[in-house]
Order: sequence, then structure tokens, then C-alpha cells
Amino acid sequence: MNTPTALVTGANKGIGRHIAQQLADLGHTVLVGSRDPERGARAAAAIGPNAHPLLLDVTDPTSIAAAAATTDHLDVLINNAGISDEGSTAEDTTPEVLRRVYETNVVAVVAVTNAFLPALRRSRAPRIVNVSSGTASLTASADPAGMGAYRGAAAAYRSAKTALNALTVLYAQSLGDPFKVNALAPGLRATDLNARAAELGGDPAEGAAGAVRLALLDADGPTGGFHSWDGAPMPW
Ligand code: NDP
Repeated sequence: MNTPTALVTGANKGIGRHIAQQLADLGHTVLVGSRDPERGARAAAAIGPNAHPLLLDVTDPTSIAAAAATTDHLDVLINNAGISDEGSTAEDTTPEVLRRVYETNVVAVVAVTNAFLPALRRSRAPRIVNVSSGTASLTASADPAGMGAYRGAAAAYRSAKTALNALTVLYAQSLGDPFKVNALAPGLRATDLNARAAELGGDPAEGAAGAVRLALLDADGPTGGFHSWDGAPMPW
């Protein structure tokens, strides 16, 4: 039997790099998505023989089309690539920031997912994991006692991840069986994305393990859900 194949976007560093490592260690063939050829090649070489670099800028339609054209079969797509908005409140953000953040964190996920759907449809158990954020939760955000230091902050980033959550539900419904499409809150992690990483962040490998769990769901597993890295359900 062929080993499963997984694509992780933005896998040259951070949580994505750990997801790629963990899937490769489990025996998956892993396509290490990176918008930079050298950093992607370096990451794939360090991960090991199951990992192969895939040049993929998720905001570039030409790059997406070229990457999809080289991929006949895919079992797992992890939409991990993401950017931050440096924490601006809604009143301080700008249309430019909003467009930039939505382009990478929302629009690109649709573009990449749709481009790789033909390859995913060749899988008997296709799995899509959208790396979201606990800060996307409207339930937690609307709670007067919720969100702590993030209250009112990171408006573009958080609303983009809320849109990503909505798309997760819509993809799960329209793709149906045998797809499983889920959103992950990886937890606060020490990475380049997170300005307060050193102060607050936890081990990115722990967040990555949550994505791997959702990538390996069996036929009885959930779809259209929002899950914490530790497997607990997240409130929408
Ligand atoms: P990093 O900044 O460490 O990694 C982000 C990755 O996304 C990098 O590989 C980056 O590539 C890539 N990327 C960004 N834009 C593009 C693009 N246009 N095309 C291809 N790749 C791109 O951050 P994290 O590992 O923390 O973030 C991974 C995911 O986890 C994100 O979706 C983030 O929102 C989410 N997340 C992170 C949390 C945290 O506390 N760290 C908490 C909640 C969610 P490059 O190196 O070229 O910039």
C-alpha cells in the first residue's frame, strides 16, 4: 500500500515545520510548502527522507497552479501558512492591513484548497486541517470576561480566522463524505508570528500535534468542527 501524502503550507518554520516533521516521522510523504525555495529545501532536508520541498506562495495564483500541477494525489492538506496583523484594534487597523491579512489567512486558503481538490478527491480518506486560532472564537471574544490581553486587539487577524472557521464549516458541508474538514486552535506558541512569544508562548510542537491528530482522523471522526490542540472542542 502507498504511504499517505500530506501537504503543509508555510512549513519552512514554526508550527508548520513541526507538523511536517511529525507527519514525516509517522511515515507520511510530506510536501513541505514554502514560498522561498532555499528555506523550503533546507527544511525538507532537515526533516528527513520522507519530506520534499514544494514551492508554494499561497497568495500567488501562478505559484499555486504550478504546485497543484505537480501533485496528482493528496491525502492531507494542512492550511497552516498565516500572517499576523501586529495586534491592531479595529479602530487602528487600515484597509491595507485588512486586505493583506485576509489575502493570506482567508483568500489563500480557498485558492489553495480548491486547487488541490482534484488531488484530494483521489484519496480514500481526504483530510483538510485549517490552522485557525482560539482568538477567532466569537463566543470567547463576546464574553465580557474573555480574552484577557487580547480583548479588542488583533482585529484583522482574529476576524480573518473567524472567517476561516466559517469556511471550514462550509467546506465540510459541501465536500461531504469521505472528507473531514476541521479547524484547529493550536494554542499560544513561541514562533516568529507571535510578538509576545518568548513571554507567553508554549512549545510549537504541542500545537502541531493537534493538527496531526485531525490529519489522522478515521471515518468516524468529526468534520466541520473547531478543535483545541489538546482535542477539546472550541466554542465558535
Ligand atoms: P510563523 O511566522 O513561524 O510561520 C508562518 C509560516 O507561514 C511561515 O512558514 C511563513 O513563511 C508562512 N507564510 C506566510 N505567508 C505565506 C505565503 N504567502 N505563502 C506561503 N507561506 C507563507 O508562525 P506560526 O508557526 O505561529 O503560524 C502558523 C499558523 O498558526 C498560522 O496560521 C497562525 O495564524 C497560526 N497560529 C499561531 C499561533 C501562535 O501562537 N504562534 C496561535 C494561533 C494560531 P515565511 O517564512 O516565508 O514567512
